[in-house]
Amino acid sequence: MTDHVSTDPMPSTPDEALQRLVVGHDRFRAGAVVERDPKAEVARTSLAQHPFAAVLACMDSRVTPERIFDQGLGDLMCVRVAGHAVSGDVIGSLEFACHVVGTQVLVVLGHSRCGAVTLACAGAPGGDLDAVTRKLKPAVDATPLPAARDPSDDVYINSVARKHIDLSLARIRRESALLNSLEQKGALLLAGAFYDVSSGTVEFLT
Ligand SMILES: [Zn+2]
Repeated sequence: MTDHVSTDPMPSTPDEALQRLVVGHDRFRAGAVVERDPKAEVARTSLAQHPFAAVLACMDSRVTPERIFDQGLGDLMCVRVAGHAVSGDVIGSLEFACHVVGTQVLVVLGHSRCGAVTLACAGAPGGDLDAVTRKLKPAVDATPLPAARDPSDDVYINSVARKHIDLSLARIRRESALLNSLEQKGALLLAGAFYDVSSGTVEFLT
């Protein structure tokens, strides 16, 4: 497929921005990703960037937003940290993307078999990692462990990961007056998404 995306106009609404991610992911799943010329991409973005989406994602090597959503240089502003743990710096970076730069959609992208979520379920690992797992603990506490279910069980871990997406969105809305205001005005769409590392499929949760 040729590099048609780079010449597409910017999405005019947050819904269109989200749809662009959906369509890009469909290409990824179909194995029909856009062929991109790195030199042309650098030339096109050398003077300015016009990203249309912000993505808060885990640092997991399998969960690369630009690839999963088949986007090019300058299309996405990604904030990546283990377990997409929300902190003041993370919220500030998302405010930079959405309020200063003007991205129209903000996706919190969790995933299956997340190592950070697994650590949070197992207990404090020690070191500065504790600062990450503490931020995931509310999702662990809010996800009841079914009887006879091992806390290292994939089904349970993935339930916690999904809850963590919901709680991350809630925390962003609660703690960021800027992002909350953009959403209330209809200038920003906040969405959750869950990526299955086995199937390579994103499930949009809004
Ligand atoms: Zn992860």
